[in-house]
Amino acid sequence: MNEYKLKEQICEIGRRVYAKGFAAANDGNISVRLNDREILCTPTMVSKGFLKPEDLCKVDYEGKQLAGTRKRSSEILLHLSVYKHRPDVQAVVHCHPPHATAFGVAHEPVPKCVLPEVEVFLGEVPVAVYETPGGQKFADTIVPYVKDCNTIILANHGTVTFGPDLEKAYWNSEIIDAYCRILILARQIGNVNYFTDGQTEELLDLKKKLGYDDIRFHRGQDCELCAHTEFGRGYTEEEACACPTSGKASANGHAAATPDVDTLVRLVTDQVMAALAKSV
Ligand SMILES: [Zn+2]
Repeated sequence: MNEYKLKEQICEIGRRVYAKGFAAANDGNISVRLNDREILCTPTMVSKGFLKPEDLCKVDYEGKQLAGTRKRSSEILLHLSVYKHRPDVQAVVHCHPPHATAFGVAHEPVPKCVLPEVEVFLGEVPVAVYETPGGQKFADTIVPYVKDCNTIILANHGTVTFGPDLEKAYWNSEIIDAYCRILILARQIGNVNYFTDGQTEELLDLKKKLGYDDIRFHRGQDCELCAHTEFGRGYTEEEACACPTSGKASANGHAAATPDVDTLVRLVTDQVMAALAKSV
């Protein structure tokens, strides 16, 4: 696809992002890799619903603006984190889809093993730690996860999705938001029911046959395929896992640890005994 066609496609995806309610006002940004020196990206302070090809900017792999009359997005460094670590990725979409973002605000791990399409197209969806948007520190928050997935939720912020072309990168934004919406609805009606290990293995076999990768193909036998017990308990009660996985760090930047029950019991007992001793 030539450069002008790619610019038109960015505008079209921008309209879809805006129409879906994934980006209020000037929220969100979109980029496409042009070659090993240049990336096309959306400008700052423009609604994604009303982009024109001439609004778009060109930057290098350090984020320096090379072309375009408007100033490039301040969140381009986030996109560069993806391109630098994933040579297979050609496009990145960052937006704030409400249902997926709600998981990032609640610091709620996204469960696996609920819907077949989500298993095949997304797989594991980690929640990256929070950082003030715009700077390099913010862009670095996704680096621990970017090799193992195509969709990341940014704590207290939004989502970043990527893929082999812009359409597929954007589809992941739609898939994660629809999935999170269904999870929220199902929890309101009753239980979220999960696939069995056998059903999950069958789906993962299918995923492999379709040519998709999944972090679970590369994990040791001891690691759970679904690990869905985390959903609903949040990060604070999440158990630390030695699996080479994403989504295991809590949103405040610390790996969540299993509470040491013995220590807790001893602390409470000591305090009760101290209080009793005082009252005698
Ligand atoms: Zn944002």
